[in-house]
Amino acid sequence: MTDRVQVKNVSKRFSRKSGLIERGAEALHLKTPNPVVHALDDVSLTVSTGEVVGIVGESGCGKSTLGRVIAGLLEPTEGEVSLQGKPIAEHSAREIAAARLKVQMIFQDPTSSLNPRQRLKDIIGVAPLYHGMTNRRSMGDYVAEQMRRAGLDPALADRLPHQLSGGQRQRVGIARALAVQPDVLICDESVAALDVSIQAQIINLFLDLKEDLGLTYIFISHDLSVVEHISDRVVVMYLGRVVEEAPVEELFASPAHPYTQALLAERPDLDAERKDYATISGEIPSPLAPPPGCHFHPRCPFTMDRCRVERPALRQLSAGHHSACHLNA
Ligand code: SF4
Repeated sequence: MTDRVQVKNVSKRFSRKSGLIERGAEALHLKTPNPVVHALDDVSLTVSTGEVVGIVGESGCGKSTLGRVIAGLLEPTEGEVSLQGKPIAEHSAREIAAARLKVQMIFQDPTSSLNPRQRLKDIIGVAPLYHGMTNRRSMGDYVAEQMRRAGLDPALADRLPHQLSGGQRQRVGIARALAVQPDVLICDESVAALDVSIQAQIINLFLDLKEDLGLTYIFISHDLSVVEHISDRVVVMYLGRVVEEAPVEELFASPAHPYTQALLAERPDLDAERKDYATISGEIPSPLAPPPGCHFHPRCPFTMDRCRVERPALRQLSAGHHSACHLNA
């Protein structure tokens, strides 16, 4: 398999100085602290063509920021993103636009990502028309094809988003993404807002599309069961860092990192043979002031002195299985 997406040593920090209070204070020449959110901290990740990589972690771990950096919606503060083997910075402007089109994002809330005043045929058809993938004469057929692919009846093409169910709106988001002929879909909590039965339908749709179109997926979710079902490989993030990655069966059968073990311990107990791990105690620390050393040390049941000062490197434990913990050294 070839590398479709490569993220190399990417960090993303957000300065909060652009807030209203901070801007006002700045206008008055008052000194204010400049809090920085450390959303991503030296993250590296490779996604091969045709692979489904699940990214999990608690809210605020940086998984959505990582998705947005890969999709080009956010610029990394440091590091580089390569698409199809070439760093974005080395692409020409035209190549960047073409490469970005090939990576589409599907969001959690289809309602806020769809223009409420646009009919489905325009929501789905305008971008491929603009990019020359269809023309005005064949746009209706082109839109109908994308709608059928996403499991929507083309007879709905004249409807507005509010005239659809939540599941149908999510399918519109998928049809809109498919319409520009992507080869990578980044699904950011794409089924989290849906009823369980609709969730299953959308997940099956993603799997069918993978087979039919050879798509590559980055599947961001807090739901471990969904990730286990859909992924080939899983990346676990904590406070902006990758703490473990492994093939899906290995990660769920033999998690090496105490944080992954704790995440699995908090899952509903559907598997009687599941191993016992300690659950996570305490709150996730603020990304404004991440703890030094191992970010997980204030909550880890195995903390040692070195954990408080020394960042554990991501080390290979077996083929494709890496963990960032001093215990795994
Ligand atoms: Fe726990 Fe230390 Fe491992 Fe961090 S490095 S997960 S604190 S044992």
